[in-house]
Amino acid sequence: MDHIFGPVNSRRLGRSLGIDLFSDKVCNLNCIYCEVGATDRLTCERAEYVPTEKILDEIDRYFAEPGREQEIDVVTVTASGEPTLHSGFGRILTHLKKKTGKKIAVLTNGTTLMDAQVRRELAAADVVIPSLDAARETSFRKIDRPATCLDLKEIIEGLVVFSHEYTGEIWLEILFALNVNDGKADVQALQDVITEMRIDRIQLNTVARPPLESFARPVGKDRMREIAATMRKNNPGIPVDLLARSGGTGTEDAEVVFGHGRSRQDIMDEILRMLKRRPCTAADIDAIFPCGGPEKVEQYLAPLVRSGQVRTRVHGDRVYYLL
Ligand code: SF4
Repeated sequence: MDHIFGPVNSRRLGRSLGIDLFSDKVCNLNCIYCEVGATDRLTCERAEYVPTEKILDEIDRYFAEPGREQEIDVVTVTASGEPTLHSGFGRILTHLKKKTGKKIAVLTNGTTLMDAQVRRELAAADVVIPSLDAARETSFRKIDRPATCLDLKEIIEGLVVFSHEYTGEIWLEILFALNVNDGKADVQALQDVITEMRIDRIQLNTVARPPLESFARPVGKDRMREIAATMRKNNPGIPVDLLARSGGTGTEDAEVVFGHGRSRQDIMDEILRMLKRRPCTAADIDAIFPCGGPEKVEQYLAPLVRSGQVRTRVHGDRVYYLL
């Protein structure tokens, strides 16, 4: 299966099966903190970047196996990029809903919501987790590096309209990078947008895994707590979470994988697919695919590192594996 991963245990969503709509990274942003890597296709065009039938077929084959439905709480639609750019997005969501009867969550960078068709398609989801990293033009350009076809005012308008039309849950995710979008004026501008929106939860994040650009640095704990306190004060009744890991459309706070009885090769394939989506430490991998400790993971990956199939990168005091 190329487009299905997990299930993983997400603190936010429960046992979550991921559906990645792309093979290469297709996005309308090229965020400095992106864990997936540089955007291969920086575009606003909605297209069938992967045949919709291929994804539907994988979904059908996955759920044809007995016991699958009991293994998961939620199906999370995401992408190595922005999932709503896939023109089969709505069909895939509707199919998932019918086929699984499970809660459907969507991770999106929130930039396509001015498109009424995208908003209609999202109506099939139960939870939408859009990002908005900056509401000031200069900061938006610095952190998210948008394609020229995007306009920040329109993005904000789309988010606001969507938040009032949509009847499911909206969890707004904001990622702060040091000295890029973490100043007072940026927090205030984001608050002004939040005030206009109907949202159920705010999730604050900073750069934690190796980012695309080495100058994307994490905001310190004290400042993150200060921002969270401001948001809590200004948004009574809306939970404000401080997440430990960095975000982005293609990522999630995955912790533990369920579903046993798979061969070592199957698990190695899953590990490689996970490393394609985001860099992980040996401890992260061992938490998701228990291998008997991080040292064992290092042993398993050593031949792949030697052959160049897997790379390593030091970030902070940790060694990350990535493709
Ligand atoms: S973090 Fe998400 S929105 Fe930003 S470039 Fe990466 S995939 Fe696109």
